[in-house]
Amino acid sequence: MRTVYTFVASPNHVYPDHPERPARFDVLEPRLKAFDAEWMEARPATLEEISYVHNPALVTALEKVCREQAPGIIDYAPTYVTPSSFVDALHAAGAVITCSRAVLNRDAKNAFAIIRPPGHHAEPESAMGFCIFNNVAIAARDALAQGLERVAIIDYDAHHGNGTQAAFLDDEQVAFLSTHQWGIYPGTGWIEDAPHAKKRIVNVPLPAYAGDKVYEQIAEQIFIPFIEAFKPQMIFISVGFDAHWNDPITQLGLSSAGYFMLAGKVMALAEKHCDGRIVFVLEGGYDPMNVANGAEAVFRAATGKEASEVSDPNPHKEPDCESRIDEIRKWHGFK
Ligand SMILES: [Zn+2]
Repeated sequence: MRTVYTFVASPNHVYPDHPERPARFDVLEPRLKAFDAEWMEARPATLEEISYVHNPALVTALEKVCREQAPGIIDYAPTYVTPSSFVDALHAAGAVITCSRAVLNRDAKNAFAIIRPPGHHAEPESAMGFCIFNNVAIAARDALAQGLERVAIIDYDAHHGNGTQAAFLDDEQVAFLSTHQWGIYPGTGWIEDAPHAKKRIVNVPLPAYAGDKVYEQIAEQIFIPFIEAFKPQMIFISVGFDAHWNDPITQLGLSSAGYFMLAGKVMALAEKHCDGRIVFVLEGGYDPMNVANGAEAVFRAATGKEASEVSDPNPHKEPDCESRIDEIRKWHGFK
C-alpha cells in the first residue's frame, strides 16, 4: 500500500521577520517528488470539524479578526493573522483529516500532512504559539467520529503540545505524549501536569541538547509502555523539526539521523499495535534545510527505505537523562 501526503504551504500567511513563514518549505518543496509518496489534494476542514476541538465562539472571533483587523498580532508568542489566515488554517486542518481518512479507509498505508500554520499550541478556547487551529487534535477527534475507540498522539516537536494536552485532558479515548525542551515556550508540560491521567497524558520535559541518544532511550523506555498501556487503534505524530540541534529558536539536539530513528520507532509501534495506521503531522521547525531533511527522514521510514546520507550530528555534548526517564516511568507506573 502507498504512502500519501498533503501539502498546504499557505503562501499568504506570512508576517515580517516571523520565523513561522512560507520559506520554511523552500528546500523541501522541490524535493517532494523524489520521495516514494503520492500527493493527495486536501479539502478545507468544515466548521463542524473545527468544533470537534474548538469553541465555536473562538472560530467566529478568528474569522472576524482576519476579515476586519488583519494583518496583526493576536498573542504574545507572537501569533499573527493575515486576511488569508482563517482559510489557510481551515486548509491545514482539513489536510490532516484527508491524510487520516486515507489511512482509515485503507486507501493508504500511512500519511504525512505537511502543513502550515501549525497546530499543537492552539487550545480549545484560544489560538496561540503560531497556531490557529489544533490540526492534529481535530483529526484525532475525526478518527473517533469515524468509529475508532482509542487514538494516541505522540508529539516530538521541541515545544510542549499544550493545546493538544488541553483538548484531551479529560477525554479517555485519546492518549497524549509530548517530549519537549523544558524552560521554553509555552512553559507547560512538566511531568506532573495531569495527575488524574497517569499513563494517558505523559510529559517528557528535557534539558537543552538532549539528542539522538536520549530520544532513543525515551522511545524505548517511554513510548513503548505508553502505547502498550493504552492500546490505540491509530497513532498520530506531531512532528516538529525544531528539536534539531540547529534550529534557530530552540536548543535541543536531534540530528536528521535521529529523526529517521524516531520515525522508525513509531512506525514499528503502529505496525505492532495499530495494523500500521499512522499519520505524521508537521508542527514546527524553523530552518528550511532541517525541515527538508527531517521530512525526508519521515518519508524514508514511512516507505521502508534506508536512512539518507545526510550527516549533521549534534555538535553539543548530550546530557544524561536516565534519572529523568526513570522518574517519568515511576510516576506513570510504566513497567
Ligand atoms: Zn515547536
